[in-house]
Amino acid sequence: MKTKYLYINTIGCQMNVYDSDKIANSLLSLNYKATENLKKADLIIVNTCAIREKAEQKVFSFLGRLAGLKRKKPGLIIGVGGCVAQQEGKKILERVPYLDVVFGTHAIPRLPEIVERVELKKSRIVDIGMTDQIVEIESVADSLENGPKGRKVSDFVTIMQGCDNFCTYCVVPYVRGRETSRSPEKIVNEIEGLVNSGVREVTLLGQNVNSYGKKEGLCSFSELLALVNEIDGILRIRFTTSHPKDLSDDLIYAFKENEKLCRHIHLPVQSGSDRVLKRMNRKYTRALYLEKIDKLRNICPDISITSDFITGFPGETKADFKETLDLIKTVEYEGLFAFKYSDRPNAKATLFAQKIPDQEKKERLKKLLDLQEVISRKKNQALVGSTQEILVEGFSKKMSSVLPRAGETKINESLPNNIQWTGRTSANKIVNFNLESSSVSCGETFTGSIVNVEIEKAFSHSLWGKYLKLEPAPLKGEESYAA
Ligand code: SAM
Ligand code: SF4
Repeated sequence: MKTKYLYINTIGCQMNVYDSDKIANSLLSLNYKATENLKKADLIIVNTCAIREKAEQKVFSFLGRLAGLKRKKPGLIIGVGGCVAQQEGKKILERVPYLDVVFGTHAIPRLPEIVERVELKKSRIVDIGMTDQIVEIESVADSLENGPKGRKVSDFVTIMQGCDNFCTYCVVPYVRGRETSRSPEKIVNEIEGLVNSGVREVTLLGQNVNSYGKKEGLCSFSELLALVNEIDGILRIRFTTSHPKDLSDDLIYAFKENEKLCRHIHLPVQSGSDRVLKRMNRKYTRALYLEKIDKLRNICPDISITSDFITGFPGETKADFKETLDLIKTVEYEGLFAFKYSDRPNAKATLFAQKIPDQEKKERLKKLLDLQEVISRKKNQALVGSTQEILVEGFSKKMSSVLPRAGETKINESLPNNIQWTGRTSANKIVNFNLESSSVSCGETFTGSIVNVEIEKAFSHSLWGKYLKLEPAPLKGEESYAA
């Protein structure tokens, strides 16, 4: 069968990244090989996010760029998947006349069949059917060896889809459907497959991981973490996202009980004002949130805490925003993501009055980010002089001009004397460090191991360090996998 080329543009969150891997792997069955060269592609898929207006605008601007390509290559198939596809359905076909496929968030398992139909009949297809069941498709790991990206150290695993919380600003329940959890057996199997392909760190994904398994009567999320903690070869476990209202004592204690669970929690608060939190339907108060932060820090003093914020939610007064800034000063996050509020189709807040002018939303966003920048620098500065355990992810971005991408090739004689590597601490801080190329004969074995690095310099979004020869005692399951 002739090899065809697939180009995927993922415009979205970690869930989209995970789905893109599934898409690429499922299309291997039709002989589509991944390419990063748009012009070479026979099939272009845009995997989209509808969370914020900006992400959606990016999707249409990318699709606009494809018009010329399709004219030059009429056999080219173009598809849009993910949240924007789910939300807009066949309206996208009207807006983009050269588009062939629109497939929703629950249609990924059907994608090979859809593409085959387009190849044969040259028809345009829309599939945005949703179901309350998770349809399992071939594990990403099963075909990874021939897969699109080669070896990865860290990967995502979806443990649940959808959301039942209906925060008033959010589109997720409408585009990803009701909350549904995958069985622990499927999750463990998938992770074991990933370990075999070289993955050493997994991030368990769900919109509200704390309610994992509750509806279906499966095990609890903390029990799932304990199961994953037992998997040989996995060195680190992360998860996202945890909803503050459901953050249980069990999960807080999990940081103490599971040695592979990274000392980091992403706990999106969105606002520091009780009035705004109520209008957002977040179902917790500022006091309850701060109580949970205290508990986390009591149980796990070195835990790193990050969060999400929205500025300019409808009706947010200057006093409300001041409370948000005050919360940031009180908690002193390691880092945060902040977004200007945007109206989303179907989300309740779209109908709320007292919309905040864009300029004001922007100014509040800047103030918030400036404040966090100072805190992040201070927190990173405090790490200078400490020794950190780093999971090596590969060559740093700086090396891209002299080397192929991280984890993709072996070091050879033509390389510079010092190679710059990159990895992360348990607290999820990026650390770059140099190592003489002669010290490591094979990039593939150093990548994926945990090494000690002494921190020498701090920036607001990363750290710089010195590699220490002294290796830490192996973590559980590491013995047979370390370099
Ligand atoms: N499930 C997670 C939670 O409850 O915190 C959040 C998931 S959402 C995909 C990621 C972030 O996007 C949210 O935490 C929020 O800060 C932001 N977000 C969602 N809807 C938004 C909107 N309409 N405008 C601006 N930001 C939004
Ligand atoms: Fe959206 Fe709220 Fe669900 Fe998070 S918890 S995905 S913000 S509805």
